[in-house]
Amino acid sequence: MIVAIDGPAGSGKSTTARRVAVQIGYLHIDTGAMFRAVTYAAIEAGIPAEDEALMGFVDRIPLVIEVRGADFRVMLDREDISAAIRTPEVGAQVSDYAQLPAVRAYLLGRQRKLGYEAKAAGSGAVMEGRDIGSVVFPDADVKVFLQASKHTRAARRFAELT
Ligand code: C5P
Repeated sequence: MIVAIDGPAGSGKSTTARRVAVQIGYLHIDTGAMFRAVTYAAIEAGIPAEDEALMGFVDRIPLVIEVRGADFRVMLDREDISAAIRTPEVGAQVSDYAQLPAVRAYLLGRQRKLGYEAKAAGSGAVMEGRDIGSVVFPDADVKVFLQASKHTRAARRFAELT
């Protein structure tokens, strides 16, 4: 099965997705980490957040994704960048890169592949993030839209950043 969890920033998508994946033995696909990895690679290569510049770049990023249960790792040229993608520098720029059609189209393909491979393997995937239920997996078996008050969302983001 594919479980798609959508909702605004700070509503608890990642925490929920990870815990659900652990409980039911599914893979947790952290789509935010994928956008962060592309952003990290672009910053490292000095590629600005412009669609034309990214178009020829994204397909050539040596980005390898390793998923074992709820453990989601991103590797760039065999270097594990799972921690490096969480820096404030990447966090401040990720939405600029994530909104570009070239980046979204590229990651859409990779996200679908990861989800359908997990399903074909007889297991399933819990995926969360913007567009997951509407664009990436419109036919997901389970769709959840999380909501939380502004106060809770801000407090959660603050705790994460500090
Ligand atoms: O979840 P996380 O904070 O790691 O996501 C980083 C950023 O990636 C989000 O703020 C958003 O700009 C982008 N993103 C996206 N679509 C997704 C997941 C993340 O645009 N499915």
